[in-house]
Amino acid sequence: MIRAIDDADHPHEECGVFGVWNVPDAAAVTALGLHALQHRGQEATGIVTYDGARFHSHRGLGLVGDNFSNARVIASLPGRIGIGHNRYATTGETILRNVQPLYADFEFGGFAVAHNGNLTNAHLLHRALVRRGCLFQSTTDSEVFVHLIAISLYSTVVDRLIDALKQVVGAYSLVALSNEALMGVRDPMGVRPLILGRITGAETGAGWVLASETCALDIVGAEFVRDVEPGEIVVIDAQGVRSIKPFSRAPERFCVFEYIYFARPDSIMEGTPVYTARKRIGAELARESSVPADVVVPVPDSGVPAAMGFAAESGIPFELGIIRNHYVGRTFIEPTDHIRNLGVKLKHSANRAMLAGQRVVLVDDSIVRGTTSRKIVEMVRAAGAREVHMRISSPPTTHSCFYGIDTPERSKLLAARFTPDEMAGQIGADSLAFVSIDGMYRALGKPGRTAAEPRYCDACFTGDYPIPRPDEGDNTDRQLSLLAEDR
Ligand code: AMP
Repeated sequence: MIRAIDDADHPHEECGVFGVWNVPDAAAVTALGLHALQHRGQEATGIVTYDGARFHSHRGLGLVGDNFSNARVIASLPGRIGIGHNRYATTGETILRNVQPLYADFEFGGFAVAHNGNLTNAHLLHRALVRRGCLFQSTTDSEVFVHLIAISLYSTVVDRLIDALKQVVGAYSLVALSNEALMGVRDPMGVRPLILGRITGAETGAGWVLASETCALDIVGAEFVRDVEPGEIVVIDAQGVRSIKPFSRAPERFCVFEYIYFARPDSIMEGTPVYTARKRIGAELARESSVPADVVVPVPDSGVPAAMGFAAESGIPFELGIIRNHYVGRTFIEPTDHIRNLGVKLKHSANRAMLAGQRVVLVDDSIVRGTTSRKIVEMVRAAGAREVHMRISSPPTTHSCFYGIDTPERSKLLAARFTPDEMAGQIGADSLAFVSIDGMYRALGKPGRTAAEPRYCDACFTGDYPIPRPDEGDNTDRQLSLLAEDR
């Protein structure tokens, strides 16, 4: 998200991407895939299809169901090839021209792209491209790809894409569509997820799917083939599937927050079911910081698997002491603190029968600003709980994310300013504990965190940023001279 060329604030974008190759009713299949990925973005959605002669596009604000349940809309998107996108941006403008997939007509034909993640040099590239005469239509960083591809001197789409990718810095998963191919890309460190699936039974050869998460394969009846590898471009065309690895090898740093909160629990990431990972983190948390109590209560839905793991490990009964109303969106989407506070009340209510007179262990996945925890602790106490012990299935969130997960600026992160004991006081809990960094790594099947080469991007917990941040080194002049060279 480029709000203004010199915007010092960092971008926030979390998204879901989906693409299909050679399936009947590509638009309807893509809409289903996007529906399964709705948790990755609820602000806007779009689909672009190709029918062998022309591209078709429909983009809109709101949920997938709001935009694609109309049969006429689906019928206006003919073709057996398509890509789609769910957008979740909490800053910047919510305007239609920012909604993806982005589409452009090039000399080689049409090109559409959908992007999950953040390009940390987007504003520098943007500035350089504008100076070169490129006219931006949107304020989304993904448009940088479109211009870089447009000005590339390579002839094939894939070579132009590689050329563009070599100039961007950041965390991204892309799906892209041209007249000839469906393409999927993961950034060199593999921070954001992307998977490849296959739909059998297509009458004319194999059908292929690219998606942010495996839950999007299940809904369309596709089988999981493999994760797209970090730094890999998967090209799917009439010849089949081929893999290109244009980058030099980089350490793998998959986003650990996908396991903690962001991915759907029924998805499998890097071979590990997200649900299992969350339960195991809950068990680690119980081993590290159990407390005498009568019930373990999750903050639904985000805390449920970890609370189950905590309860099983500690032997304390699991109860649904808080009931979630499913007809309200995530509180995080609300723009002001006041509305966010109200949102928590709209979303959760106390199940008094399970709380009155009890010593309660409350389990949630993370504390960001502390708004949710404060409200929930207050609510649980008001329902008669005798003690409230908050347990969090992630380490303290002390740093902002620049790679595609929405976190507020550092000064708004409770854990950046206070110790866990101080935070307990702030949220009104009798005690508060977080899982340790090593405990989280152990739960993910690793011996612990190795400082020299941590297996995940855990910058939000450690401040160890594997990719240069937006404010690191304004090399516009270098970027300009790069763009000026005959490429
Ligand atoms: P807060 O109220 O600011 O402390 O936010 C914490 C709550 O928001 C937790 O219940 C999390 O489940 C949820 N959460 C954490 N990170 C995010 C995120 N990036 N987007 C949306 N919700 C989040």
